[in-house]
Amino acid sequence: MVHDTIAAISTAVGEGGIAIIRVSGPDAIEGTARIFRSRTDLTDAATHTVHYGHIIDPKTGEQVEEVIVTVMRGPRSFTAEDVVEINAHGGVVAVKKVLDQVLLQDGFRIAEPGEFTKRAFLNGRIDLMQAEAVIDLIRSKSDRAFSVARKQAEGTLSKRIKALRQTVIELLAHIEVNIDYPEHDVEDLTSAYIREQSGSALEEIAKLLKTANEGKILREGIMTAIVGRPNVGKSSLLNMLAQENKAIVTDIPGTTRDVIEEYVTLNHIPLRLLDTAGIRETSDIVEKIGVERSHNALEEADLILFVLNNNESLHEDDRVLLEKVKDRQLILVINKSDLDSKLNMAEIEELVSEERIVRMSVLEEEGLEHLERAISKLFFEGQLDSGDLTYVSNVRHISLLKRAQQSLLDAIEASNVGIPIDLIQIDVRDAWESLGEILGDEVGDSLIDQIFSQFCLGK
Ligand code: GDP
Ligand code: ZN
Repeated sequence: MVHDTIAAISTAVGEGGIAIIRVSGPDAIEGTARIFRSRTDLTDAATHTVHYGHIIDPKTGEQVEEVIVTVMRGPRSFTAEDVVEINAHGGVVAVKKVLDQVLLQDGFRIAEPGEFTKRAFLNGRIDLMQAEAVIDLIRSKSDRAFSVARKQAEGTLSKRIKALRQTVIELLAHIEVNIDYPEHDVEDLTSAYIREQSGSALEEIAKLLKTANEGKILREGIMTAIVGRPNVGKSSLLNMLAQENKAIVTDIPGTTRDVIEEYVTLNHIPLRLLDTAGIRETSDIVEKIGVERSHNALEEADLILFVLNNNESLHEDDRVLLEKVKDRQLILVINKSDLDSKLNMAEIEELVSEERIVRMSVLEEEGLEHLERAISKLFFEGQLDSGDLTYVSNVRHISLLKRAQQSLLDAIEASNVGIPIDLIQIDVRDAWESLGEILGDEVGDSLIDQIFSQFCLGK
């Protein structure tokens, strides 16, 4: 059990006008009361009440800062412990002074990164999956990713994992009864039951894993490779999307030497853009490195933006590359539509279907909305707005779900070939444990520490 009281600045450090110091632990209220001068006595304060007053230096009686203090008594607080939040208005220096006074109290210490959330987890208020969602919330780079994380923090996904676990524990209980009382001789019933229970658990796991790809996209962004021959306008497109000039744009072919990464949100869809050096054979050694990397980027990409110059006829290199990637998630961007067309569209439409072709002029900033529409169509046909934001997006969760899946498949297989029930029990138990690990049951301290160490201070 926890005996010390922790405190930290919970708002981002910087020039902001307001900062909040969060205090949590058994002495949170009494300790703060000792340095808080106000008309109300915090030690008598009801839970979830707000109090105006001053933080003072109890030795000198000097006022340190004007504050508003919120009292939340456990277990109805973020950590399930007594929590006090001190709202200070006076900028960074004043806030640090307040924190210093708070930390001088007996049994108080500065919180480690993620420690408030860790206490919420250790006190059983949230499960590990919800705690991990708190990290995602902090890090989310798009409003959509934020909503997904919030859903997870609220426990929607946890509920489904718990229900899944219930199915598995029923199966396990049934098997264990059978092992303990074999004289009942219900062997046949058992194997039918194993197939049935495992089958329904497997169905749910498959559903959850199906969301993993979209979940990954929302969380990490669509890995997008911009490819095409030199000078077609790849860097210009990247810059237009990123709306800042990070990649070097020049007229000299082959000047984009490296893969540049840029994170943008297009119509709610997060994209991780990889600009790549012109994909072509080259003897230039520096450029060769870039070209190699861009081939890797191409392999990894979820989406390929294949850029052509409207003002040039299709080059043999284009044909070769198009042939190679035409079955991938591809959008053909015909750039420089402000110039005369020298492309044979009939030939192009034989290679790429019409709805995947987008005409643009990056120079004149035209056609961006067509590109946006084409991308959302390709990835989220109608689904992104379904409102059901339950996605499995965390790699740890995905790999544990896959492990549970395998264990249940093994159990069915074993039961089909008549393997003794006490061996099948091992597989089912493994499935139960993998699902439990997702929620944080029976996970080791080192994993817990590793997960919470990813947090920033004050959370
Ligand atoms: P990259 O080699 O494919 O990355 O091509 P860049 O982005 O460096 O662009 C090459 C040249 O084409 C630059 O001079 C750009 O200003 C020019 N360019 C890019 N987009 C357009 C466009 O839509 N119309 C015209 N006319 N020029 C463009
Ligand atoms: Zn370029």
